[in-house]
Amino acid sequence: MRFMNIHEYQAKALLRSYGAPVSDGRVVLKADEAKTKASELDGPLWVVKAQIHAGGRGKGHFKEAEAGEKGGVRLAKSVEEAADEARKMLGRTLVTHQTGAAGKQVNRIYIEDGSGIERELYLALLVDRKTSRISFVCSTEGGMDIEQVAAKTPEKILSFSVDPATGYQGFHGRRIAFALGLEGGQVKQCVALMGTLYKIFTEKDMEMLEINPLIVTDAGDLKVLDAKFGFDGNAIYRHPDIAELRDTSEEDPKELEASKYDLNYIALDGEIGCMVNGAGLAMATMDIIKLYGAEPANFLDVGGGATKEKVTEAFKIITSDPQVKGILVNIFGGIMRCDVIAEGVIAAVKDVGLQVPLVVRLEGTNVEEGKALINNSGLDVIAADNLSDAAEKIVKAVKG
Ligand code: GDP
Ligand code: MN
Repeated sequence: MRFMNIHEYQAKALLRSYGAPVSDGRVVLKADEAKTKASELDGPLWVVKAQIHAGGRGKGHFKEAEAGEKGGVRLAKSVEEAADEARKMLGRTLVTHQTGAAGKQVNRIYIEDGSGIERELYLALLVDRKTSRISFVCSTEGGMDIEQVAAKTPEKILSFSVDPATGYQGFHGRRIAFALGLEGGQVKQCVALMGTLYKIFTEKDMEMLEINPLIVTDAGDLKVLDAKFGFDGNAIYRHPDIAELRDTSEEDPKELEASKYDLNYIALDGEIGCMVNGAGLAMATMDIIKLYGAEPANFLDVGGGATKEKVTEAFKIITSDPQVKGILVNIFGGIMRCDVIAEGVIAAVKDVGLQVPLVVRLEGTNVEEGKALINNSGLDVIAADNLSDAAEKIVKAVKG
C-alpha cells in the first residue's frame, strides 16, 4: 500500500484527540440506529454526511436520484429529518467529481452538530517534493474546488514550506492568519490550530491533510468543518492506531488483491494491461504504449524474484479488469527467469482463459527456454523481439 486514506469522521476523531476544534458527531453504520445517534446531538441543526474516500460530496449526486434530490451532505432541522436523510443515503451509490462515473457505495454516515458559518476558508498541509519539506497551503476561497482556484485566481492561494530544523513556529500561523484575513482572537486560534495540524502531520507520517472548509463560525471561532487525511503507506506499520482505521471496501479491489501477493500494482484508465518486471521497465513500457497511441490499463511490477504463483496471480488480476482489451507481457530476465514467467503466464491462461490479444516479449536469463514453453503451449500468443516491436504489436492488435 502506497497511501492510506481515512474517513472524515475518523480524521475528526483524531483532530479531537489532539484538541483541535471540531463539531460533535456520531457515525451511523445501520439505518435503524440513525435516530438514536441523531438524538444524542443537541441541534437545532444537524448535518448528515455520506462517508466515502472522495471529496465533492455536497455537490455530488446519488445514482437513481429523485428529481431535485440533494447530494451527499444534507442539512436537517430535526432528529427525525436527520435520521430520515441518513436512511435515504445508506447503501446507495454517490457520484462526485472525485469518484469517477462508477461512484462509491455509501456504507457509513456521519451525523454532526450543524455549525453557523460566517466564512469558508481553505487549508492544507502536504509534502512538497521540490523543497523536501512540509508545506502549508491556504486560501480565502474555502468550500470551492482548490484546483479551480489555482487555475483561475492563483493570487488567492498562499503556500510556503516549513524548515524541518526549526519545525512549526508561531510566525507560520500568523502568516496564515493574515492571509486569511482573521482578526482578534481568531489569530491566536489559528496559530494554535496550525501547530496542532503540523504536529499530527509529522507524528502520524501523513502525506496530505486537507481542510476544506476551515470555517469562521457565526460566533467568530475557527472550526474544522471537513477533513481529508492521507497517510504514507510505507510508514503505516509504525502507527497501529491508524492502520486500524483502514476501510478496504474503499480501495480498488484489484489493488487490494495485488497487495496480498506483494505485487506493485496500480490501476489506470487505459486499455492495455501490462505485466512487467522492475519499476523502471514498467515506466518505460507505459511510455512506449502511449507513444504508439494507446493507454496503459495499469502499472504492474511483479518484482525481481517473482514465483510462478505470483505471476499467475498478477495475470489473473489484469484479465479481471473489463477495461483491458489487450495484454503486454514485457520481461527482462535478470534475477527473474524467463521460463518462470512463461510458466506463470501459461498456467494463468489455462486457468482463466484468454479473451483478448496477448503479446509477450521476453529477454535475458533462460529466454530460449521461456520462448519454447510459450511456443509449445498451444496458446494464441503474439511473440515480439524488442520493446518497440512489442508495443507496436499490442496497440495494433487492440486498435486494429
Ligand atoms: P464535501 O462536499 O465532500 O467537500 O463536504 P463538506 O464537508 O466540505 O461539506 C460541503 C459543504 O456543506 C460545505 O462547504 C458547507 O457549505 C456545507 N456544510 C457542511 N457542514 C455544515 C454545517 O455544519 N453547517 C452549515 N451551515 N453548512 C455545512
Ligand atoms: Mn469539503
